[in-house]
Amino acid sequence: MPNLYELTAHDAADLLRRKEVTSLELTRSVLERIAAVDDRVKSFVTVTAEKAEQQARAADEQIARGDMGLLTGVPVVIKDVLCTEGVRTTCSSRMLENFVPPYSATVVGRLFGDGAVMVGKANMDEFAMGSSTENSAFFPTHNPWALDRVPGGSSGGSAAAVAAQEGMVALGSDTGGSIRQPAGFCNVTGLKPTYGRVSRYGLVAFSSSLDQVGPMARDAEDCALTLQVIAGYDRHDGTSVEKAVPDYRQALKSDLKGLRLGVPKEYFVDGMQPEVEQSTRAAILELERLGATVEWDVSLPSTSYALAVYYIIAPSEASSNLARYDGVKYGHNVQAAESMWDAMERTRQEGFGPEVKRRIMLGAYALSAGYYDAYYLKAQKVRTLISREFDAAFSRYDALITPTSPTVPFKMGEKLSDPVQMYLSDVCTIPVNIAGLPAMSVPAGFAGGLPIGMQIIGRAFDETTILRIGHAYQQATSWHKQWPKL
Ligand code: GLN
Repeated sequence: MPNLYELTAHDAADLLRRKEVTSLELTRSVLERIAAVDDRVKSFVTVTAEKAEQQARAADEQIARGDMGLLTGVPVVIKDVLCTEGVRTTCSSRMLENFVPPYSATVVGRLFGDGAVMVGKANMDEFAMGSSTENSAFFPTHNPWALDRVPGGSSGGSAAAVAAQEGMVALGSDTGGSIRQPAGFCNVTGLKPTYGRVSRYGLVAFSSSLDQVGPMARDAEDCALTLQVIAGYDRHDGTSVEKAVPDYRQALKSDLKGLRLGVPKEYFVDGMQPEVEQSTRAAILELERLGATVEWDVSLPSTSYALAVYYIIAPSEASSNLARYDGVKYGHNVQAAESMWDAMERTRQEGFGPEVKRRIMLGAYALSAGYYDAYYLKAQKVRTLISREFDAAFSRYDALITPTSPTVPFKMGEKLSDPVQMYLSDVCTIPVNIAGLPAMSVPAGFAGGLPIGMQIIGRAFDETTILRIGHAYQQATSWHKQWPKL
């Protein structure tokens, strides 16, 4: 038997169901693992050991009563952008350093309702702005595969925790790639659901028309289980959609015969690392071997505008969302000030880091009178064009396959002084958010010992197909079973 902390959530759940292990044993094994490796990896802002043991005991009672859910007793990690009642929720910002929410996000409530055990809150780029987790106001997270490299971002703490076996599944959030890019960088499986599939209530808002919560895990099956628990309509989120949630695990059972896959050429961008392209193409050949039909030269010409559209829309929404941090309602506040305006200015000056300030300025500029039509409105129109292009592609293909990001994990500090280089890490993931589609990153190879991810993009609300493709691929390959030596 492997160490308990190495188990997938579905294997752990099987052992719990057969009463071969208790949740308290699983939880303690994970907490010991955190104690052993997290001073090097730094996945967590807060470790909730005491609460975890309480929840584990309660889960064991729940199992004894014969009332086991999908993730009952399984240790999970929550990105620190999701509100957790009574547990500090910082967004890795000085602004919220001491913020203890009075309520839990719907997704957190659903996990707890199912009996999952939270072991801690994961580090991230401040307010989810970044691609390396170096924008955390507290400390950067390290890639478990090479500690001098970044784990990706903004959900870098969640990805590193799963890769370093400090939790069996994690929740991340994805506005422009923040689940998929770190999943790719850390050799884990990460799914961004369709916009509206999962509630955003209690997710600290970055860009409300793009943000979506999703699972990061050891394999597609664990993503399916976690999505099953968190998905579905929530009356607290007006953008969550009232649509039946399918049985995702059932869907994993079908093979790939009859599926039509498209490979959009624009995603193999200039400057892409050759090994990333080679691994992605090899993975697509594997999908073909498994029974899918592949069309290699699909074109989505508006793809190249997606990054520009994103860096108008996301900062615009962020500048509006972040206006709430005024030092009056909650969060950091400076009281020794001359006037109300002075207090507000100094609160925001001290509370926000440089990337957050950059985004607020970009957004306020793009929305200001005289520039609104030229930037924001134009970006919204191009957004529609990008969505239509995807719609047309999905009349011919069941899914599109691309690399997750253009490179393997880069060195810490390498892109910190050049924001545009940092923004380019998300060229392959951002178009998906612009169109609100679901997509998943699955491990697809290594270059020089560093992970490479393949992205599977699906039709709106068709998470089932991408999970099925990811699962079939993982039945035939073993990239996702490789673990870093720590
Ligand atoms: N890296 C992108 C950004 O900095 C995406 C972040 C995200 O998905 N939260 O905005």
